[in-house]
Amino acid sequence: MDIIINSTRPEELIDITDQIKKTAKDSQVKNGIMVLYVPHTTAAITINENTDMNVRQDLLNSLERIIPKEGNYGHKGGNAYAHVKSSVIGQSLLLIIEDGILKLGKWQNIYFCEFDGPRKRNLYVTMK
Ligand code: ZN
Repeated sequence: MDIIINSTRPEELIDITDQIKKTAKDSQVKNGIMVLYVPHTTAAITINENTDMNVRQDLLNSLERIIPKEGNYGHKGGNAYAHVKSSVIGQSLLLIIEDGILKLGKWQNIYFCEFDGPRKRNLYVTMK
């Protein structure tokens, strides 16, 4: 299954938790696993704090400090920083479905990470 995500900014963490929870609930999978996979090289996916919205910006700010936009990069596409951030955060999540419900920690949400937007993105989803 493909989920379409339209990012609206150059860099952002998009909260996709509700959509992913619904996808798990609507599936036939009662007890199993869900894989979320980002088929892009300048985007990523992660889990983090769901209450203090500052955490998202803190993550983006911290990545910008260690992987700045301007740098001595070999890649000439102008988006080398986005490729590096993508690999640092990662392209997939492995999640648990229990009794038909996506099992996340109390303080956890799922974020699609855009590092070179705005773009139309895909998220591959499979459940077993
Ligand atoms: Zn590139």
